[in-house]
Amino acid sequence: MKAHDGMYIDGAWRPAAGPDVIEVVNPADERVIATVPAGTVEDVDAAVRAARAALPGWAATPPAERAARLAALRDGLVARRDEIAETVTAELGSPLKLSQTVHAGVPIAVTGSYAELAATYAFEERTGNSTVFHEPVGVVGAITPWNYPLHQIVAKTAPALAAGCTVVVKPAEDTPLVARLFARAVHEAGIPAGVFNLVTGLGPVAGQALAEHPGVDLLSFTGSTAVGRRIGAIATGMVKKVALELGGKSANVILPGADLARAVNVGVANVMSNSGQTCSAWTRMLVHRDQYDEAVELAAAAAAKYGDRIGPLVNAGQRERVRGYIEKGVAEGARLVAGGPDSPHERGYHVSPTVFADVTPEMTIAQEEIFGPVLSVLRYADEEDALRIANGTVYGLAGAVWAGDEAEAVAFARRMETGQVDINGGRFNPLAPFGGYKQSGVGRELGAHGLTEYLQTKSLQF
Ligand code: NAD
Repeated sequence: MKAHDGMYIDGAWRPAAGPDVIEVVNPADERVIATVPAGTVEDVDAAVRAARAALPGWAATPPAERAARLAALRDGLVARRDEIAETVTAELGSPLKLSQTVHAGVPIAVTGSYAELAATYAFEERTGNSTVFHEPVGVVGAITPWNYPLHQIVAKTAPALAAGCTVVVKPAEDTPLVARLFARAVHEAGIPAGVFNLVTGLGPVAGQALAEHPGVDLLSFTGSTAVGRRIGAIATGMVKKVALELGGKSANVILPGADLARAVNVGVANVMSNSGQTCSAWTRMLVHRDQYDEAVELAAAAAAKYGDRIGPLVNAGQRERVRGYIEKGVAEGARLVAGGPDSPHERGYHVSPTVFADVTPEMTIAQEEIFGPVLSVLRYADEEDALRIANGTVYGLAGAVWAGDEAEAVAFARRMETGQVDINGGRFNPLAPFGGYKQSGVGRELGAHGLTEYLQTKSLQF
């Protein structure tokens, strides 16, 4: 057990203002592996002051130099790849291979993409008799969740730094260790003091203090819709800019001409990955009624294959929440064809890969974000019915369409109320804008669209 006592503020590790700590638990064996300081309003204030003081210098740093620091940061993350993966596995519980490829690999790619964008983006443009400057928004407050703990920090910090903003991050309580590792990499990359600051702490204390701080110009939040709505209201009430990445209930629409086995297998893998703790997961599989029974059989077989290969959920509370949803699915009349509410292990916060058949669109498990390894398979009568079901939730973050003909899949995808759609198994693209329609959020992350979130324009007329 390691007791960490510092927070990264103004370029140094400083003791916290208060005595409280947060215990970090390994969800695979339920043992406490470390403690970190529970930051207070005072710590947040010190971090925001440091970020404000560093802002003029960093904003005036030429983009090529900001790009060089980001490239150095990417190299530092590459050098720490194994340490990142082992840390995420220890505090989140994800299998080491997933931690290597996704939890370490994606942040490396995203940091690299912003090193390139900082060097190449047109921060100045001409229109008519005006020159338009794209200037940094200012001090960014970033509040991040635990499910992709480094990715979510990088998806906010890298574009903010590329834009010339300075940052204060408040990471999730469950996964502060990889955030600390990131701060070390920032330091080693020669990013000046105060440009990046890290305050660990509880959401309602440190997170709220950051959302309410008058020195923060933009609040970027990823997490639950309930918290996002609350702190979004606080921040917009103070006329701060707000970016929200919230929940999802994405549809995987399998049209009749698709390769059914492939669509179902990829769909199940998408839901089970990271133990279902993915906001963009395709948790509703929509299948034509003529192919429904075959699809359910394929999905149940695919889920059963996962068995022990998925990790635990992040904590006991999440496990109870997910089990509660599984029990609710049964109570509302859905049919369990794989998994169920019982835990497959004695230790660790595990839930079995679970598949429900005979799910109807109004059921709770077809409407609410479960955030666990639970797939609902729904039946549709025709394309219009499929579209109505796909668009029939408050969310709109991601989705998939499978068809025999790509043009048919694209035509369907264009009618979906959602921010991203993978066509016939299209791959994740770290440059494509990511973000939600409807209650899945406000704003976009990643690529050039993610960069513009951290910029504001100034027009000079000649
Ligand atoms: P959460 O929204 O409570 O936590 C996310 C972040 O917000 C954490 O850093 C937390 O400390 C902070 N926070 C919490 N309360 C706060 C407050 N009052 N003011 C400021 N910051 C605050 O999410 P959770 O409890 O960890 O997870 C609950 C559910 O949220 C999950 O089951 C899932 O449905 C959803 N979720 C979605 C995502 C996503 O990527 N969209 C990520 C994590 C969780």
